[in-house]
Amino acid sequence: MARKFFVGGNFKMNGTKESIKSIVKGLNEAQLDSNVEVVIAPPALFLQLASSELKKDNVAVSAQNVYDKPNGAYTGEISVAQLKDSDIHWTILGHSERRTLLGETDEVVASKTKFAIDGGVSVIWCCGESLEEREGGNTISVIERQLAALAAKVSGDDWKKIVIAYEPIWAIGTGKVATVQQAQEVHEAIRKWLRANVSEAVADETRILYGGSVNGKNCKDLAKEKDIDGFLVGGASLKPEFIDIVNSNL
Ligand code: PEP
Repeated sequence: MARKFFVGGNFKMNGTKESIKSIVKGLNEAQLDSNVEVVIAPPALFLQLASSELKKDNVAVSAQNVYDKPNGAYTGEISVAQLKDSDIHWTILGHSERRTLLGETDEVVASKTKFAIDGGVSVIWCCGESLEEREGGNTISVIERQLAALAAKVSGDDWKKIVIAYEPIWAIGTGKVATVQQAQEVHEAIRKWLRANVSEAVADETRILYGGSVNGKNCKDLAKEKDIDGFLVGGASLKPEFIDIVNSNL
């Protein structure tokens, strides 16, 4: 089964009402490859603004995080039901910035993922190794550990609501993109792991995105790899070149 190319834009803690409106206007006016699913993730405060400004069917809005409790005394958090109530059907989870700066463990990320899916919100689930882990030859074992924690919580059709983003931590926001070979090697390993530990169908159908200093120049070569099904883009998603990344295959 062909996997639809997917490009996510993670705005992180950037933007103002004006700049978000201007990015969305750029997307509304652009010629976007209709074979690509596009999801932009502005800060929580601007989710509804982005949503109301968007005029394109193949562009959706995503949160950057969600909590794994239905409601209650969790100051500062946002629930899955609140996302749904605001017509937001995607969230990023497990971004390395949340894992490292906010101490989210593999288990917490997996639990949030399950909670989001059960509540009807699809997940861009991030994984990736640090530079130290790569240099120690532990890249694949780190990713497999993260995947195992996820697979312990999700099953069956849950996988249809997950897009995996492989984001080597050393490549995020550093300008140091993984080589095409490094990225393809890990993507292939993720697919192999899914085949061995989940199912043939999940391995064949799950989209695996690459993230880490993707830009308008390096996207085309990465997009040609057979196991790279799109990108999760940070810095460049705030710039006009995001359109070039969406259109990597044209
Ligand atoms: C990200 O934050 O998900 C990311 C990939 O960032 P950047 O593209 O800036 O490296």
